[in-house]
Amino acid sequence: MDFLAIAEIFEEMHKTNSRLVLIDHLVTLFKRTPVNTIKKIIYLLQGKLFPSSEGIELGLGEKLTIKAIAESTGISVKEVEENYNKIGDLGETAKEIAKKRYQQTLLNEKITIERIYSTFEKIAKSLGSQSQIIKLRLVSSLLNDATPLESKYIIKFLLGNLRLGIAEYSIIDALAIAFTGNRNNRKKIEEIYNIYTDLGTIAEILFKKDLQGLTDLQITPLKPIRPMLAERIIDPKEGLKRANGKVALEYKLDGERVQIHKNNTEVQLFSRSLEKITNHYPDIVEAIKKFSIHNCILEAEIVPLDLVTKKIQPFQELMHRKRKYNISDVILKYPIKVFLFDILYLEGNNLTQYEYRQRRGILQSIVKTNRNNIIELVKQNVSSNLNQIEIFFRKAKYEGCEGLMLKQLDSKYRAGAREFLWMKLKKEYGTTLVDSFDLTVIGALLGKGKRTGYYGALLLAAYDKKSDTFQSICKVGTGFSDYDLELIYNELKNYVVDKKYYNVNTNLKMDIWFTPKLVIEIIASEITLSPLHTAAYGLIKENFGVALRFPKYAGKIRLDKKPEDSTNTSELIQLFNKQVKRNKS
Ligand code: AMP
Repeated sequence: MDFLAIAEIFEEMHKTNSRLVLIDHLVTLFKRTPVNTIKKIIYLLQGKLFPSSEGIELGLGEKLTIKAIAESTGISVKEVEENYNKIGDLGETAKEIAKKRYQQTLLNEKITIERIYSTFEKIAKSLGSQSQIIKLRLVSSLLNDATPLESKYIIKFLLGNLRLGIAEYSIIDALAIAFTGNRNNRKKIEEIYNIYTDLGTIAEILFKKDLQGLTDLQITPLKPIRPMLAERIIDPKEGLKRANGKVALEYKLDGERVQIHKNNTEVQLFSRSLEKITNHYPDIVEAIKKFSIHNCILEAEIVPLDLVTKKIQPFQELMHRKRKYNISDVILKYPIKVFLFDILYLEGNNLTQYEYRQRRGILQSIVKTNRNNIIELVKQNVSSNLNQIEIFFRKAKYEGCEGLMLKQLDSKYRAGAREFLWMKLKKEYGTTLVDSFDLTVIGALLGKGKRTGYYGALLLAAYDKKSDTFQSICKVGTGFSDYDLELIYNELKNYVVDKKYYNVNTNLKMDIWFTPKLVIEIIASEITLSPLHTAAYGLIKENFGVALRFPKYAGKIRLDKKPEDSTNTSELIQLFNKQVKRNKS
């Protein structure tokens, strides 16, 4: 399949501000794609080569990409850099340079999606001392044959910032329309996707066998499933009521969520967003290998410990584990503890349909028979008494936890669902609202004075699933240390776009716009109605959205969260209503 046709569709998608038009383009693309290519197209649209669970990343450095553009067009690296500085986007730069140089000759080999994919695969898998030279050669030879438009998208793919940033929901919508002829089937596809998170394989099956074929996909060890999520509550009374008077309480640790998969001798670890993180935690892998179980899927929270006191440390300390080299030194210097809180699969049996209390019982007996230094069961209590819950909450806080998770005793494990079956209780209830929100950065104002060269304030958004839009909720300019300012600037640099992103909804004018990618944690004292902001616009009061009062950066970039995992508009409405009720009482 010709890559040029795909690049032209990408270009059209890039221009549109409408989600429906974007989906139409995707449908056209899927219908034109032959069956043996559909998987590849889906992964590329998701900005990867394989399902994330394979842990093979493409991401090529900017420097090497600039060199490749220079080499393939015969101009100097300096000239490419000058153009890049002017244009601000390396894909666009490659296109502009290629426009001046490109000549269609008989020697040009046509670029097909298959060729792109196999070159990318070679790039991703080339390791060792010669790898930079090999990668450079591979990219230059591809660019040599590419038209200007193709060059643009090749570069974007290589840098891992295909700024089309198509949400998975839109891909699923388009799959439903293209292969089942009915958009309403998106729900069924999403259900399967929750337990079998390889969208490429799902697309291929839909193409070959329609919806029926998907029923063969089951929970399998080594294939991550979408994690079950919790709704927020602001007092334990509500938790008890929703759980019909009796509820399980678990410590809510502030660390990194991990799905631990074991299949005989192989152990793999996946993050909350289902990336493979096995290499960060060889100590966990070793411990699980020794478990007297053949296959299982476990869920846990990993927390960092102080080397000397062995007390729980702030979540950021886990950053040290993300290093690629000398991990054995890092293990000794930065110890961790793993607190198991769920089991989803055991010895060939899918346990997600078991009730919480049964799963907890199984987990308990596993931990009992597999004692080791770093893996424990999360502390738990079952209670029907408000006082008891309050005491357990304070104890959790005292021991360095964020608060409590309240779980309904008869709840099944609902992959990918955020419901009141699990409830998170984080804030100090009883005091005024100081709650935390995970919000996506969508824009920024340039800094002045001390902040020149960085951003002065960030525009933040909540996510609205129904419309698949990021809706502005506040600007934040306080709580940042100099270190934070630099760190955030460098992260956001990768996501700058030339105009307001297509699924960003705000009336505010900003100096800089971003693809919604980076999630940060904010604390605020109150949710207010606002004529300026668009979050939950018109849903509580006509012509008003909601905003956060006195927002402050809480010191955390949530690299573990996808933008679609940001605080969502229905959560905000619920919180607002509870706040009104409490202020009245
Ligand atoms: P939040 O990130 O604030 O939405 O809270 C949900 C997160 O809390 C989960 O994704 C887990 O990473 C974490 N967590 C900590 N302790 C527990 C627990 N006992 N049960 C479930 N999740 C937990």
